[in-house]
Amino acid sequence: MRNAARGASIMDMVDLPARFADRYPKELSGGQRLRVAIARALVMNPDLIVGDKPTSALDVSVQSQILNLMMDLKRELGPTHVFILGNLSVVEHLVDQVAAMYLGRVVELGGAAQVFAAPRHPYTRALLDPALTVAPGQGLPDIGLGAAFPNPLAIPPGCPFQPRCPRAFDLCSRVRPHPADVAFGGAARHLAEEPLKGAA
Ligand code: SF4
Repeated sequence: MRNAARGASIMDMVDLPARFADRYPKELSGGQRLRVAIARALVMNPDLIVGDKPTSALDVSVQSQILNLMMDLKRELGPTHVFILGNLSVVEHLVDQVAAMYLGRVVELGGAAQVFAAPRHPYTRALLDPALTVAPGQGLPDIGLGAAFPNPLAIPPGCPFQPRCPRAFDLCSRVRPHPADVAFGGAARHLAEEPLKGAA
């Protein structure tokens, strides 16, 4: 009975009607199934919830409902959420702190407002450049990263981003930026400063 009451309480938290308790997954929509997944995570009173692209399979309208639900739950219950997201407009509105990753490594870490207003790493800057234009016939804009797409099984020496970096110089292919440079509020960018200083 205690477990049933707890289950009902969690279902209420994720806005699932009590009558759904006996339904099979095939009887639920994608959004409802995601609410069940969130409820299952919440039942153990976690300190941390990790969501790997949690809404990517949903319609945009359902995505916003689920993301709003997660933010409401965060405010009410306090668990920290770690979201792995590719949709930058969602990232900007959803999170307090951002870690930009390239080839499995964090290249920039900071407050969301700061990173979106003034990205410091060349990859973060490229990510935040407009990806599409509404102008007919304009196609994809050139964001300056070239076409040297990375192979995660053959990570280049030095800075992993150097084959695509518009600011790379000779040292970048030999020396990897120190991870400590990515401490909160920073970016793996110390080498990136050199060409600018040289050009000044
Ligand atoms: S270390 Fe060099 S290649 Fe890497 S991001 Fe900085 S400037 Fe670009």
